[in-house]
Amino acid sequence: MSKYPSIILHRSKVHAVKRFHPWVFSGAVKRFDKGLQGGDVVEIHSEDGEYLGIGHYGAGSVSARIFSFSREEDLMELWVRRLQSAYNVRKAAGLAESEHTNAYRLSFGEGDGLPGMVIDWYNGTAVIQAHSTGMYRERENFAAALKQVYGDKLKAVYDKSGEALRKADEEVAAHEGGYLYGKPETDLIKENNHQFKVNWETGQKTGFFIDQRDNRELLGKYAKGKKVLNTFCYSGGFSVYALHNDAALVHSVDSSAKAIDWTNENVALNKNADRHQAYVADVFDFMKNADADYDIIVLDPPAFAKSQNARHTAIKAYKRLNMAAIQKIKSGGIIFTFSCSQVVDTEMFTGAVTSAAIECGKKVRVLHRLSQPADHPVSIFNPEALYLKGLVLYIE
Ligand code: SAH
Repeated sequence: MSKYPSIILHRSKVHAVKRFHPWVFSGAVKRFDKGLQGGDVVEIHSEDGEYLGIGHYGAGSVSARIFSFSREEDLMELWVRRLQSAYNVRKAAGLAESEHTNAYRLSFGEGDGLPGMVIDWYNGTAVIQAHSTGMYRERENFAAALKQVYGDKLKAVYDKSGEALRKADEEVAAHEGGYLYGKPETDLIKENNHQFKVNWETGQKTGFFIDQRDNRELLGKYAKGKKVLNTFCYSGGFSVYALHNDAALVHSVDSSAKAIDWTNENVALNKNADRHQAYVADVFDFMKNADADYDIIVLDPPAFAKSQNARHTAIKAYKRLNMAAIQKIKSGGIIFTFSCSQVVDTEMFTGAVTSAAIECGKKVRVLHRLSQPADHPVSIFNPEALYLKGLVLYIE
């Protein structure tokens, strides 16, 4: 007898789980064991008695998020195994133990067999962000598992479990975030040899947008001698790379004054700070009034759509934003345009940019199609986890 309660799936609905899709939708469930509460560990079986996996129960449209398709008796041992495997992937990708980079996403939820658990590594400090009640309950165990994987290299573990989860869940709201272990030795990180200060305590998400690392590097290759506009700059990632690569002038824009302070701090830690100006402003207003002489514009807005219902409005916003950039860029200029809305897929995003180009009547060529980096891996069985899309456009 297992120590965990069960949910039983309809015979006709087991194929997705058998193909390692990590979510069980409520429509697939024939029967729940009594008394299940959101966040409980459950085993998933077919109505024919076949064991299918183990995961966390959820009361909404996703009834279970599976973290193993094998039998698991000791979850602590599983967490260590999962984190070790995640670490090995980052090492293979040249991130863990790298000379030039000491910040990376160690756990990208489903992509690392840990649905609902995001962990970022910032030069000795691990920042945990649970997106499900089940994973939230495991946070102390993850702190212990991280110690096993990193040993003395781990100086601190900080719990930054999501605002959204706090609002939705009384159990989570009852606890404050904060340090689960140790004290950080530093808040400085290196990304491709660029220095950044990371604010996990007060910043957005886990404190830094790690997912743009490769795309910033690519921008660097285009930046020499150019006038660059970095919109939605947050802590200045793209600006730092452009300046390091000898851009003639970089303008950074964000509506948050705190973000602009961080951008200025990060620019000052690196090269060519005298070629940088930062503005607290709404990007749409800024672009309306800006001179039309930028060689490069970066558009990296926050997720315009957080749900399927908001998708239509989001697509219109992407179109409007890209039109503003296409109108403001010099002839022969380059636009780096992104979407991190998970519900807007690559095709829809490309469609929005295409209609912006049509409306502006400009010839536009695609030089690169961009995505998220290797430390945000996507299970081939769960393609929904691809959320970051980007295009590099050449505007004639
Ligand atoms: N490109 C950044 C990450 C962007 S996060 C990086 O590489 O780190 C999105 C940012 O957009 C946030 O800092 C937020 O403050 C800002 N923002 C959101 N709406 C905005 C608006 N209308 N105008 C200007 N900035 C905005």
